[in-house]
Amino acid sequence: MDWLFEYRNCPNCGCNDFTVLFDSNMKQDDFQDGVESVYMLPGDEYGRHVKCRNCQLVYVNPIEKETKINEDYSKRKSVDVSIIRESRLRASKAQVELIKRYKTDANLLDIGCGEGFFLFNASKAGYSTKGVELSRDAALYARREFGLEVEATAFEGLQFPENCFDVVTLWQVLEHVPRPLMILKEVHRTLKPGGLLAASTPDIKGVPAKILRKRWWNIRRLHINQFTPGTLSSILRNAGFKNIAFTSYRESISLLMLFIPILKHLKVYKPLEVLFYPSSIMGKIMNRIVLTYPARLDNCTVVGFK
Ligand SMILES: [Zn+2]
Repeated sequence: MDWLFEYRNCPNCGCNDFTVLFDSNMKQDDFQDGVESVYMLPGDEYGRHVKCRNCQLVYVNPIEKETKINEDYSKRKSVDVSIIRESRLRASKAQVELIKRYKTDANLLDIGCGEGFFLFNASKAGYSTKGVELSRDAALYARREFGLEVEATAFEGLQFPENCFDVVTLWQVLEHVPRPLMILKEVHRTLKPGGLLAASTPDIKGVPAKILRKRWWNIRRLHINQFTPGTLSSILRNAGFKNIAFTSYRESISLLMLFIPILKHLKVYKPLEVLFYPSSIMGKIMNRIVLTYPARLDNCTVVGFK
């Protein structure tokens, strides 16, 4: 069974010296998207979070094999996009404002661009944009809905020329990838001298994570690296970035996007589902009400320069 998994060294510093933060709390119910029970590892090790003694990065060890992870992402179907659209459009507008503080009139690559909400707002703000997204379904949405240039493949496979981008963004991506340092080094290579990288991830030192520990909503199957502002800037430095600074933007979430996971968690979503369809009256109202809060409450956002 365990050939489906691989143990790994710290994805930031390469050490193999860690303490176990907590073992898996994954149950069969946590596995969706066609992941069968054969992928469960004996001994509760699947989902085990460890902390590197050298650089303090928290990461999942073992993880599913990288080929399997990438294959899952490429086949991943979009959730009902109308549930997330309003929130994502609004949050990504704030992300574009953040980029504008550093670079305008620039070419920009968004890695893991999903359905293209950020790229859509960046194009509107005058950036010349490109996107890369593993999910074929999400990439198709971005092309069809917003007319964006998006490649449905892995960024590292594209081998962009050196010094070709002014800005590269990685919004909520580094927590998903088995080799974040390799991705960041490749980003560094493709940026122009003085080029900007902006990246955000959940913050395992944030208040919600500290209170909820392994019940925190960002402890989940697909999040295999858990950063703090400290470890995120450390991995950027290791990849060669300079002038690294913490920043933030206004995150947005609609009442609908907020409620559905809560109802799912309480196991009452299925019987009530029809009431909460985005096309229902209740769904429409709840989609219009968007709460905003500083992303730094639950996320680390950093910028760095080549
Ligand atoms: Zn380390």
